[in-house]
Amino acid sequence: MTHWHSQTCTETLAALESSDSGLSNEQADYRRKQYGANAFTEAPLRPWWRLLLKQFADFMILLLLVAAIISGIVGDLVDTLVIGVLVLLNATMGMIQEYRAERAMRALKSISAPTALVLRNGQQQEIAAVDLVPGDIVLLDAGCIVPADLRLMQSIALRINEAALTGESLPVDKPDVAPVPADTPLAERHNMAYKGTFVGYGRGRGVVIATGMQTEFGRIATLLQQTEIVVTPLQRRLTVFGQRLAIIVLAICLVVFLQGWLRGESLLPMFLTALSLAVAALPEALPAVVTISLALGARKMVAQNALIRRLPAVETLGSVTYICSDKTGTLTENRMRVEAYYCDGELDKAPRQTAPWRELLRAIGVSHDARSNHAGELSGDPTEVALLAAALDAGLEYPALNAELPRADEIPFDSNRKRMTTLHEDGERGFLAITKGAPEVIISLCNHMLVNDGTVTINRELISDMADRMAADGMRVLAVAIRHWPRHPPHMSAEHVECNLTFLGLVGLLDPPRAEVLEAVRMCKQAGIVPVMITGDHPRTAQAIARRLELIDDGGEVMTGQQLAELPDADLQRRIRDVRVFARVSPEQKLKLVTLLQERGECVAMTGDGVNDAPALRKADIGVAMGITGTDVAKEAGAMILMDDNFATVVRSVREGRRIYDNLRRFIRYVLTTNSAEIWIIFLAPFAGLPIPLLPIQILWINLVTDGLPGLALAAEPAESNVMHRAPYPPGESILARGLGIKILWTGLFMAGLILAAQAWALSIDSGHWRTLVFTTLCFSQLAYVLAIRSEHQSLFALGLWSNRPLLATVVFTVGLQFALIYLPVLQPIFKTTPLPRAELAVALAIPLLVIVAVEIEKKILQIRSVAKLPRGAAR
Ligand code: ATP
Repeated sequence: MTHWHSQTCTETLAALESSDSGLSNEQADYRRKQYGANAFTEAPLRPWWRLLLKQFADFMILLLLVAAIISGIVGDLVDTLVIGVLVLLNATMGMIQEYRAERAMRALKSISAPTALVLRNGQQQEIAAVDLVPGDIVLLDAGCIVPADLRLMQSIALRINEAALTGESLPVDKPDVAPVPADTPLAERHNMAYKGTFVGYGRGRGVVIATGMQTEFGRIATLLQQTEIVVTPLQRRLTVFGQRLAIIVLAICLVVFLQGWLRGESLLPMFLTALSLAVAALPEALPAVVTISLALGARKMVAQNALIRRLPAVETLGSVTYICSDKTGTLTENRMRVEAYYCDGELDKAPRQTAPWRELLRAIGVSHDARSNHAGELSGDPTEVALLAAALDAGLEYPALNAELPRADEIPFDSNRKRMTTLHEDGERGFLAITKGAPEVIISLCNHMLVNDGTVTINRELISDMADRMAADGMRVLAVAIRHWPRHPPHMSAEHVECNLTFLGLVGLLDPPRAEVLEAVRMCKQAGIVPVMITGDHPRTAQAIARRLELIDDGGEVMTGQQLAELPDADLQRRIRDVRVFARVSPEQKLKLVTLLQERGECVAMTGDGVNDAPALRKADIGVAMGITGTDVAKEAGAMILMDDNFATVVRSVREGRRIYDNLRRFIRYVLTTNSAEIWIIFLAPFAGLPIPLLPIQILWINLVTDGLPGLALAAEPAESNVMHRAPYPPGESILARGLGIKILWTGLFMAGLILAAQAWALSIDSGHWRTLVFTTLCFSQLAYVLAIRSEHQSLFALGLWSNRPLLATVVFTVGLQFALIYLPVLQPIFKTTPLPRAELAVALAIPLLVIVAVEIEKKILQIRSVAKLPRGAAR
């Protein structure tokens, strides 16, 4: 085994047949085939037949099959066959659902696959991390997850968090890249970076020495290979609920069985009836349906630029009460432009020609990490791109300037420090350190300022006032300062280098608010969601932008990170209720804000992009990472990634989350109501002196077709018109919350009562079709019910049948099937049906209409009651 850490950089590159400018594309392609993907081998998805077999592992289903076989041997073989086919079809449905859910999850995962910045053919390129090969040169930056095992070749204050590999939670310094002895333990090899760890601070580059399963992480990753099975909170509640329900259902089925036995019915058919009822009425598919709805919802959200990384997020989105958003890029366009300069006592839109102005421009022209490619396109951090663009506009020659002041060292930017310093060789003068950052920070580090007559003592008050004025216009203001060094400073540390500076000037950058955000903010307010801005920027800048976006009105206050730090928690808890803008906030304080809000019972969505945002993103109910500007670490921590970094996308996702949750509740309502109707019918019939109304086959058929198909099509139901005009529902509310339990109970009983009445009527007129009548009426009533509950508030007549076509199609299809079952002679003996004469058919069609009317009346009553409950004067 090669000890890469004990080799020099040159030896490593030679051994890997690579160079400082990276591999060529052809070399990379060849090696990709040779070494395979840079990924851990994942456990293959379960094949369909394994999923199918799993469906039969249910005790009740096995019991039903055994009973059917016995009854076949002693009696009707056709019955046994049909029961077998129905159970098989049922299992196939279950299998298809699980299959779709698993694949949808895997597909989501592959969309969020990480990328890596590499040098190939001497050019920087962003490629999918799976395509990395040994010999590739990888560039590292704060917040990026190390994509493969690397021998470091450059470290600029690199600090890497290796907790994932070594368990050590403190980040490890990588001070230099010199070789270390071969027997150095892994945790101390400071010239190496391992896959799966992340860069906490600094920059660097390294050459890939191992990929995929060959990496140190890959060796221990075998344990991680199992596909993660996520259980969402709703699923957990449903499982517990289902277990309780199962006991009740089984008890009722037992009573049904005993009742029949005592009445002298023959044992085996009675047993089959009770068992079929149990199999049909147990809502064992509910948790699987939740996964599918959420996974399909998540797939739809990808098309709207919201990538869900954790499935429960889809469910939680609907309950969000606070959206805490960054400013730059999320509320604004992140297209910065230099709008104003302040230098030598003058504020101007364009730079002037005097010495201090030239010095300022030169400083902003070289002290950034923005890049310009051959075609002249600029890339990098938008603030820095804006500075470079401004310098170019002012006529500076970029490559020439870089050659004149080549970079020798740097102290990287960090949002806690709010500044960065670059050190440049400055010919005969030695070295020039340029520090730029937040004005209040930089000004306090300066003793002098440059004016046309030379260097004078700084007037801090004057410059601070000017910075405030520029910020009040909504500009992000940066202060720029310099210090000359005769030699390279002995320590490239903040305390040593970032002091005793000479102030050069201020630069004001404008980043316009996104056009669609104002509308989204208004929508939040209507929907009972509080939008909050949390920014690292200056309070004045934050206030100006917040006003434009109607986050606050003219008197609206802004709380700064400093005030936040000074207030005791209890006071803060009270104050944050009214504050909508937090400025100059550090990432640690974001975590504190999330915690305080959650303690008040809020459900918080929080956006973030930097490496330090990760704890807050993890703590939030929905951590939202930026897709464009976000670091790998933020993306890894987020439950959701915004592919367009846009606040409006968060709001749209909340809307979608609410729709999905509403539809799940509808599905639960439908399944529980119709199942309970079946149970009531069979349970109550003997008390009304009626014979058992349904045969086992009919029960299984209804469970498979009538319950299954339309229920699934409910997921396609569009959002209700008032979906963003009501307050969010509390997260973790009971499944039967807000009257759902009562609704299920009464409609189940109502449906059963009508159908039993129909049965009694048919028997009273001596109709030989009473069983077909019950079977058909039950089927049609369930279909009518699914249409009626499409909206909790709006009437079906207002919605129109066309607004959920998949549902309409399944209803029409199921009605067609039912007609076939009763009118096609081949099917009649199988389902024990008879063609219904006109009068009976009319009853079978009238009762479903009554079901619709009853549900519509309920909607009306609830509407009147909720208006009556509103405080006087409140509008709907
Ligand atoms: P928001 O929280 O609204 O998204 P942000 O994340 O861009 O803002 P930070 O990146 O934390 O805020 O920046 C905080 C402050 O640091 C800025 O207000 C600015 O004064 C300073 N700053 C930002 N970028 C740079 C940079 N490239 N060089 C020097 N200073 C910078």
